Amino acid sequence: MGSQKWQILIESGWCKSCGICVAFCPVKAIVLNVEGKAMAAKEGRCTGCTLCERLCPDLAIQIQSLEATA
Ligand code: SF4
Ligand code: SF4
Repeated sequence: MGSQKWQILIESGWCKSCGICVAFCPVKAIVLNVEGKAMAAKEGRCTGCTLCERLCPDLAIQIQSLEATA
């Protein structure tokens, strides 16, 4: 089985580059790219805690389980 369990979906158009998700992710799975937009950098590290999803003021992040298909 793959090691990646979670997918970090970011709607760049809604991201206002506040950096909250980057600051609060416990495993530093998200970074800001050169345009200042949030971007999944180390998706394999994501624990699915959904902190970023819940803290993003613009609801730009969605955490999706890659396993819950059954
Ligand atoms: S918390 Fe939301 S708006 Fe702020 S940088 Fe992250 S994705 Fe963008
Ligand atoms: S769900 Fe948790 S571990 Fe995954 S990117 Fe968001 S804050 Fe980081």
